[in-house]
Amino acid sequence: MSPLIAPTPATQVIGLIGGLSWKSSAEYYRLINEEVVRRRGGMHSARCLMWSFDFADIEVLQRTDRWDEAAHLMVDAAQRLQRGGADFLVIATNTMHITAPHIEAAVDLPLLHIADTAAAPIKAAGLRRVGLLGTAFTMEGDFYTGRMARQHGLDVIVPAPADRATVHRIIYDELVQGRVVDASRQAYRQVIERLVARGAEAILLGCTEIMLLVGQQDSPVPLYDTTALHASAAVLRALSAGA
Ligand code: GLU
Repeated sequence: MSPLIAPTPATQVIGLIGGLSWKSSAEYYRLINEEVVRRRGGMHSARCLMWSFDFADIEVLQRTDRWDEAAHLMVDAAQRLQRGGADFLVIATNTMHITAPHIEAAVDLPLLHIADTAAAPIKAAGLRRVGLLGTAFTMEGDFYTGRMARQHGLDVIVPAPADRATVHRIIYDELVQGRVVDASRQAYRQVIERLVARGAEAILLGCTEIMLLVGQQDSPVPLYDTTALHASAAVLRALSAGA
């Protein structure tokens, strides 16, 4: 009997933990499929599974510092993907990588860490001092900047406190809800300028919705978008299975 799902040719199944927010998950899905078409052409598209959270369930846990409960939900999502037949995991957001160690301990699947997929091209370009934009959790916690420094030798700088508050507020009050506001783009441009004035050689969009608001035209230095980099790294990994 032929297998139920015949891969053509051998590819791995990408397991996405999404809905964080659904706005960026939609971008991941589009970018992943576009990358497969770029590499394979024709009618090819990605073999993938997505568990998509109700982001309101997660956001309340973040805001009230209930990270153990958040980790529990993330592990549950990863286990659903494992049961569904995913070959590796992609947490489709930067912030929830806080829970990555819990997932890696609980699930028998490799995890494609978003910070690693972002660091690779920055290092390859010979850049070292990087300005990071993301949620307060990402900019202020060690799970992200620490990994960038210790594992990748990057010097990550973050905006000053008032700018961090602005960047964070715009992500939650606007971007994850699909609102793209010109005045907020202006605010981000100013934050980027201040990071560049402090020596940032590149800007890392360390939140998967920021690309909805700003692009390379808003930055005087090279801009690296974690959504696009993570999505294309996932495809590279999926397609190189058995290659
Ligand atoms: N997607 C955003 C990120 O990349 C923020 C939403 C979340 O908390 O997951 O950090």
